[in-house]
Amino acid sequence: MSLSFSIAATDGVSRLGTIRTPHTDIETPVFMPVGTLGSVKSIPQHILEELGVQILLGNTYHLYLRPGHEAIGEMGGLHRFMSWERSILTDSGGFQVFSLSELRKVTEQGVEFRSHLDGSSHFFTPERSIEIQIALGADIIMAFDECTEHPASRERAQASMAMTTRWARRSKEYFETHKNEVPWAASRSGSQSLFGIVQGSMYSDLRRESAERLVEMDFPGYAIGGLSVGEPRELTREIIATTLPLLPKDKPRYVMGVGYPEEIVEYAAMGVDMMDCVLPTRAARHGLLFTSEGRMNIKNARFARDNQPPDGNCTCLVCSRYTRAYLRHLFVSREPLAAVLNSIHNLAHYLDTMRSVRHAIRLGELQAKLSGAARASEQTS
Ligand SMILES: [Zn+2]
Repeated sequence: MSLSFSIAATDGVSRLGTIRTPHTDIETPVFMPVGTLGSVKSIPQHILEELGVQILLGNTYHLYLRPGHEAIGEMGGLHRFMSWERSILTDSGGFQVFSLSELRKVTEQGVEFRSHLDGSSHFFTPERSIEIQIALGADIIMAFDECTEHPASRERAQASMAMTTRWARRSKEYFETHKNEVPWAASRSGSQSLFGIVQGSMYSDLRRESAERLVEMDFPGYAIGGLSVGEPRELTREIIATTLPLLPKDKPRYVMGVGYPEEIVEYAAMGVDMMDCVLPTRAARHGLLFTSEGRMNIKNARFARDNQPPDGNCTCLVCSRYTRAYLRHLFVSREPLAAVLNSIHNLAHYLDTMRSVRHAIRLGELQAKLSGAARASEQTS
């Protein structure tokens, strides 16, 4: 068994569950920090462990270009290469091919693109993406998809979704034949698991068709992709709300690339089990902290002589030791430690947020808590 998913409690449509992978058991709903290049920017692995990170994301496009999947495969796979014994998920590279690379040419066969590093020419197919992801050896890998730009015409979205569906079938066929070639397959129980990705842009009937075709292919988990591409937040929520019920209840459901702290709470309450986002670490590098009291721009002059911790309700190793004045000083002096400390706090905030969501589902209080929060914000706005 490569992956199993069990649900321990529900509250409305939200679920408290466990995903068992060959490396670790993951409590859901889970927030997954993004370690694009085999590193969550500015945070070493032992601190990620201390923060309680259960699963990390790695990036197929970036790791393929540098240092190369073959090198990582020879080093025993991504877990061993980056010294991370907990779970890893790799994306298929589709999103980066479409957002970062230049001169891409998309055909039914795959995507030809130029590296954003040196302009060299490369060709990704569904088979190639899975081959790379097998060499990297993540516990959960993703089918190769086309992430449709926003806005997209209906005709364009339909053609793109249909191709993504055919690519999902090819991804699965290649994976089923080669899945035992993962570097650690012989030493662990089971192998990798391949998830399908629902596309269809902002058209709910296309999303439905995409979901139905993927469910027929019987993946062990499903993602909703193609969101956070510049669409209004209302639309993101609507697409998630209409797509989730189309996916099997007994499989993990993953929304890719979201979101702000209040959004991940909301999506977990809607029944999403997995989420990832670069926001906590990216915002940290720009001096933006997420706290229990809202957002805080640490470079603000009013923090110059502020001896309080960044977040008085946070027990992370930054808030229990350093002051706002010191973090502001580091940031305006461009000290590398600023990015480290800000990133640690932001990640701690996201992980604590998810921990309290899981706790609330266990107690059956998440839905009540959310409607209370919505009422409070209506009163103050
Ligand atoms: Zn903190």
